[in-house]
Amino acid sequence: MMMEERITDILGRIEASCKRSGRNSSEVTLIAVSKTMPLHMIEEAYRLGIRNFGENKVQELVRKHDDLREVYGHNIKWHQIGHLQRNKVKQVIDKTVLIHSVDSIRLGHMIEQEASKKDIVIDVLIQINIAKEDTKDGISTDELIPLFMELIRLPHIRVRGLMAIAPYVTNPEKNREYFSKMRQLFVDIKTKNIDNGLTDIFFDPSSFNILSMGMSGDYEVAVEEGATMVRVGTGIFGERDYSDARS
Ligand SMILES: *Cc1c(COP(=O)(O)O)cnc(C)c1O
Repeated sequence: MMMEERITDILGRIEASCKRSGRNSSEVTLIAVSKTMPLHMIEEAYRLGIRNFGENKVQELVRKHDDLREVYGHNIKWHQIGHLQRNKVKQVIDKTVLIHSVDSIRLGHMIEQEASKKDIVIDVLIQINIAKEDTKDGISTDELIPLFMELIRLPHIRVRGLMAIAPYVTNPEKNREYFSKMRQLFVDIKTKNIDNGLTDIFFDPSSFNILSMGMSGDYEVAVEEGATMVRVGTGIFGERDYSDARS
């Protein structure tokens, strides 16, 4: 299949998942995960209407951002979806529209510090290791409320929602329970079903509206369970070749 067919197919499936679950597909943003992909493929996706791109390495995000900036300006939106080291925050902070992977208060403080220097407010998601996999980053569900309560005190950070990477499975139905749990945690926070009256002061639930979950193998189930952002790489660009990641 050509990229155009792949994207059309994915958008159709997102639409169908929305229909099945009584949602409007305008609530769901497709993020094209372009890690390891060369610039010309990103430009092709752009011509096909994609505006949101996800990268998991800071260096790669920054390089692609800078290379495409002159032609496309702010129309291309870069998402930092991979683990973020504190010493890289400074490089990426004004080049990404959303950091999906905040998983500690130490990282939160570093983002706050760098954002404050630049006098900007940074949108972030809290990453949850929803299936408790040893190999995955993210906090446990027990740590969610404490981390959330600390992050919302930081004036240059806006906590927009939650993110998870579900296990790799061949049958996406196996991840439904994890997506459903994520949705529940998300709703609990949004409706302030949490044990602290102070949130009223710091937290605007209407801006807590992003649930980033679902990848090439399971985004349809994720959308049925409430995802508002799906991160699709191979489904759009084809298999990744890690032997030559440069463009
Ligand atoms: C690579 C990656 C994806 C996309 O994975 P595919 O299976 O290629 O769709 C999504 N999210 C994160 C965090 C990733 O690192």
